Amino acid sequence: MRVHARAAVAAAAALLVGAAVAVSPTLVPPAGAAAGCLVDYQVNQWTGGFTAAVRVTAGDAAVNGWTVTWTYGGDQRVTNGWNAAVTQAGAAVTARNAAWNGSLPAGGSTEFGVQGTYSASNAAPTGFTLNGEPCNGAGPTTPPPTTVPPTSVPPTSVPPTSAPPTSAPPTSPPPPTGCGSAAFCDGFESQEGGAPSGVWSVSYPDCQGAGTATVDTTTAHSGAKSVRVNGATGYCNHVFVGTTSGVSGLGAVRFARFWVRHTTALPQQHVTFLAMRDANDGNRDLRMGGQNGALQWNRASDDATLPEQSPSGVALSLPLATNRWTCVEFTVDGSQGHLRTWVDGAEVAGLVADGTPTHDIDGQWSSRANWRPSLTDLRLGWESYGEGADTLWFDDVAMSTTRIGC
Ligand code: CA
Repeated sequence: MRVHARAAVAAAAALLVGAAVAVSPTLVPPAGAAAGCLVDYQVNQWTGGFTAAVRVTAGDAAVNGWTVTWTYGGDQRVTNGWNAAVTQAGAAVTARNAAWNGSLPAGGSTEFGVQGTYSASNAAPTGFTLNGEPCNGAGPTTPPPTTVPPTSVPPTSVPPTSAPPTSAPPTSPPPPTGCGSAAFCDGFESQEGGAPSGVWSVSYPDCQGAGTATVDTTTAHSGAKSVRVNGATGYCNHVFVGTTSGVSGLGAVRFARFWVRHTTALPQQHVTFLAMRDANDGNRDLRMGGQNGALQWNRASDDATLPEQSPSGVALSLPLATNRWTCVEFTVDGSQGHLRTWVDGAEVAGLVADGTPTHDIDGQWSSRANWRPSLTDLRLGWESYGEGADTLWFDDVAMSTTRIGC
């Protein structure tokens, strides 16, 4: 979807260029600091929400302080932004530079981002301007940003002219999406270099083969970075990027949320993309992955599955969508041995262990009445046991004592 959105924006820009040339070949944009500017808007969306990475490129002159505007084509509502102060009035959005990124040399660029919601339509925005000048080759007939009521500007906004003359890196990375009050929340934006580091470490459980886990800067759910897992078939290719940070403080009842984007549909045979070591189960893993094409939980110690892998049980789970970011949430109640799962905010009936054995769902799972997991880490990656190779990205990982949301 990211690639498609980029292509769509590029196509729209090309159309705008073509239209300006064909209809008004004599029109020349008025001289100004932003003449020839570009604004590239790349959206990642899911049901009801989106993030967008916006790259603004100065035109034929340097810019000292920038204001970028656009007009949404749907009912989008911006709820958050990073690397810019973003406000909205109706469909019109105004983004002003942060203290550290206001100065752009001629042809120079910087990136900021927005997060938002929509219900009816996330139609592509149009009418991009930089400091009042139409961008992406649009003619000067584009409405100027003065159509935005001045009351939409919060009084605490930093005037562009206060931006320091020299660029400095942000003092903190953009916030991961939807952390709430999570005890642990990481969007990988502070990662430097290709190998996950800091609170994250890469492990190869059995033997190191073709499986890799790296920090990726080409695909992200929020910000500019994520972790990419190249998962291959076979036990030597198992790979995880894991953390113990914040896990021990969560107590018996814990919630987790992560975003995953994968490439290949879940196979028929068993695979795992999330594993957590259970100190109360001989340090064997509680695993989330897939089987029979649908999401499932698996208990490594006895190979119990949730749901049961009957056709009716599998039908109560669902496939993991490919080539888009999916929000996965779960809770594990170690005091009662309960488990619940949500995908894109909706609970999955087949991925619930509630202590009351239900045929097709948690009948097999509940056969071990004393299952009381005590989880000591969280690992994201790829294990396949018979078949199944996949490329996955993970981003915006959070753990908390309460539900975090998407
Ligand atoms: Ca990220």
